[in-house]
Amino acid sequence: VNLLQRYCKNGSEVFPVIVPSRFGLKTINFFLVKTGKSLSLIDAGLNNDSCLEALCRTLNENGLDIGDITQIIITHHHYDHAGLVNTIVSKNNVPVYASAEAIPRLKRDTIFMEMRVEFYARLYKEMGCGKLGEYQVAYLKNSLIKNKDQAIQTDIHEITGNMLLHFESIEMPGHAPDQLAFWDEDRGWLFSGDLLLEHISSNALVEPDFSGKRIHTLAQQENSLKNCLTLDAEIVFPGHGIIIDSPKSLIETRLERIEAKANKFHQLLEKGPATANDLAEIYYTKIYHEQFSLVMSEVISHLDYLEDQERVVKDCCNGIWTYSPV
Ligand SMILES: [Zn+2]
Repeated sequence: VNLLQRYCKNGSEVFPVIVPSRFGLKTINFFLVKTGKSLSLIDAGLNNDSCLEALCRTLNENGLDIGDITQIIITHHHYDHAGLVNTIVSKNNVPVYASAEAIPRLKRDTIFMEMRVEFYARLYKEMGCGKLGEYQVAYLKNSLIKNKDQAIQTDIHEITGNMLLHFESIEMPGHAPDQLAFWDEDRGWLFSGDLLLEHISSNALVEPDFSGKRIHTLAQQENSLKNCLTLDAEIVFPGHGIIIDSPKSLIETRLERIEAKANKFHQLLEKGPATANDLAEIYYTKIYHEQFSLVMSEVISHLDYLEDQERVVKDCCNGIWTYSPV
């Protein structure tokens, strides 16, 4: 990873903050964008020392410090994108912007968060997950208490229309229902959160909407990728991994992958009707136990996708859904 990249075009500069990460993400990326007197921070990494040090180092190398940041803009609510917001705001009380859907999640709003846990409790039961589902729900309940202090303390401004000086904000849901991309058309720069990653396809994580209804996240992800293709961006600045030049062919690969993976689940169902949990166990074997919630999310989002295309139907028996091919 080249830690000293910077981008400069038509009077704007991007200073990427790139923090090596374990696991499959390779790096945690967030971005300083300087245009005239404004210095935007797009995303805010993890709430840890290495992200804070990397931010300060990148600022210093460019003759800046935390006091020079003028606004923080969050692509989506995940904890590896908003981690340093409280720390930065405590040193420099700048406005923080995010989508309407992100705000209760970033604030860890009690009513919303409890509704979300109930959503997963119901979901895992309906999908035939049994004990593992119950363990996951217990873990989520515990996290509600444990992660309380991760809530963003300051007011978060809802991004509406084109209120962000130098960027157009574009809804790019799928990986997260609240995900926005920030588009600088003059320069061909797209700050895309986790919509498009170079080294892995980003998960369409299953989530409830505000009314507790399951969002068909993979269909959203597909639409967002198609939308991204039409922008014809020159450079995509992603939340993880390397910065992507000319993303067109990568987006096309990701779109093909969605179709190919959906076909694999469809083929498994052709061998006989199955619950989402059955499919997860068969398809993911060992990873099913190691990454239960991720794996269930993958299977369920693909089943919703196939159901929308009328390629599968589901049948309820004793409160558990069984899927079969059409
Ligand atoms: Zn994410």
